[in-house]
Amino acid sequence: MADQWPESVTYCVVGAGIHGLSTAWHLAKELRAREQGTGDDIIVVDKESIASGASGIACGVVRNFYYQPAMGRVMKDSVEIWESDPDAFAYLPVGYLAVAPEPQAADLEAIHERHERTGYDATLVRGESRVFDYMQQLFPDWRAPGLTALLHEHRGGFAFNARAVYGLADKAEVEGVRIWTGTIVEGFDIDPDGSVQTVHTSRGEVHADQVVIAVGPWIEQLWTMLNLPNRIDVREPDGTVHKNLEMWTYWQLQEGEIRVNPSDYATAEGRMPPVLHVDSTEPLYSDRDGRLITDEPWGIYFKRDREGVQGGAVPIKIGPEAQVDPYGPESPWYTASDDFADYWTAGLAHCMERFEGCSLAYHKAPSGGIGCFSADSFPVFDYMRPNVYVIADSNHGYKMIGVGKEVARVLLGEHSEVLHPFRFSRFAEGDLHPTSSSPFPWS
Ligand SMILES: Cc1cc2nc3c(=O)[nH]c(=O)nc-3n(C[C@H](O)[C@H](O)[C@H](O)COP(=O)(O)OP(=O)(O)OC[C@H]3O[C@@H](n4cnc5c(N)ncnc54)[C@H](O)[C@@H]3O)c2cc1C
Repeated sequence: MADQWPESVTYCVVGAGIHGLSTAWHLAKELRAREQGTGDDIIVVDKESIASGASGIACGVVRNFYYQPAMGRVMKDSVEIWESDPDAFAYLPVGYLAVAPEPQAADLEAIHERHERTGYDATLVRGESRVFDYMQQLFPDWRAPGLTALLHEHRGGFAFNARAVYGLADKAEVEGVRIWTGTIVEGFDIDPDGSVQTVHTSRGEVHADQVVIAVGPWIEQLWTMLNLPNRIDVREPDGTVHKNLEMWTYWQLQEGEIRVNPSDYATAEGRMPPVLHVDSTEPLYSDRDGRLITDEPWGIYFKRDREGVQGGAVPIKIGPEAQVDPYGPESPWYTASDDFADYWTAGLAHCMERFEGCSLAYHKAPSGGIGCFSADSFPVFDYMRPNVYVIADSNHGYKMIGVGKEVARVLLGEHSEVLHPFRFSRFAEGDLHPTSSSPFPWS
């Protein structure tokens, strides 16, 4: 960390999570490559520490399983960055496998078609008996009925959340970027032309030519400091206009783990399993007492972790009123409810015989959290003031390590086709992303 707070910098990045640090690292490399500067021209400020936000508690799943073509483009580029240095990013390329019932089959087919076109290695399986056989070959005790579509992405996997962010921080610092932790951004001086002159922080003021906001679930606070609209009109592609919608709303992501011997959860060949995502319309019965939990569509995801099996389920919408602070262990959103434990362990036992009775091994792990979603639940990546670029990923984003690479190019004056579909004006233009049939708000 630098010892003297600067009076002025070329680039001030707010937030030392996956997006802020990826932006700083890529920007520093670009500046050096173009001989337009170095990492010394960049500071990253964070009110707490590196990985103290959502990036430090994320499940860490990395997939390209997105129905929206624009999201797929970001993910493909991001997977390439994860693969570029698995050690530094604590990344395990175990793949990602989604199984779904018939109502979602067309989505999986569309994603597979795009994977084929873009050369992203994946296997599509259709038909209930074929899907069942494929899963039984991987897991001989597979027993989930009624699933008719499967997409196995042979790339992707997961990363160990905070370790990856520290890996990014190291890379940025090697390029000369200075990371100021314990530094709260408290406000901005905004010029008549709308640009930000000065960033006010708990450590002092800093003049910045360009500011990048990458504050994860705190986006509403910074958005308000920048006098940006907290209510907006959203035009649908068919021309229908929804007036005065909340720009930001919150969901609780519930996650947990069962403490079992990790190697008990392996494929038939003894390998580390891909990250599994299962959606189903079959009735779900409690592993604890056999009662019916739901006969509505349900969904879970899980992966082998250091101390057992970890994962989550469909999140809970809290609405616009949620308080983000405190974040982490003190937060009410941090620990999942007993209902979640029942739901998630029931899902595990529904899928594989080895998980029968796993509710007894459930461990209240500190792995839930709050996510802030935009009005259409997709990211906003845009200049929101002439010199202020906002990265608001709508909680899609640990996997999106590649966004920072594109943002770096934009900061240097280039256009990014990859980021263009996420511009703020899409809400007014009706140029929204297509929605999938998934019960999850991030698919
Ligand atoms: C429980 C959970 C599980 C998730 N699982 C996954 C997953 O498996 N895969 C996936 O792709 N995504 C996942 N996500 C989403 C993902 O974690 C986020 O989308 C992503 O980490 C956001 O990164 P970020 O860099 O924008 O924000 P963050 O990582 O939240 O970083 C923002 C930083 O900004 C700092 N900050 C905030 N306000 C200020 C201020 N005023 N001044 C200075 N600094 C400030 C914070 O301290 C924080 O360190 C999950 C999210 C949660 C909550």
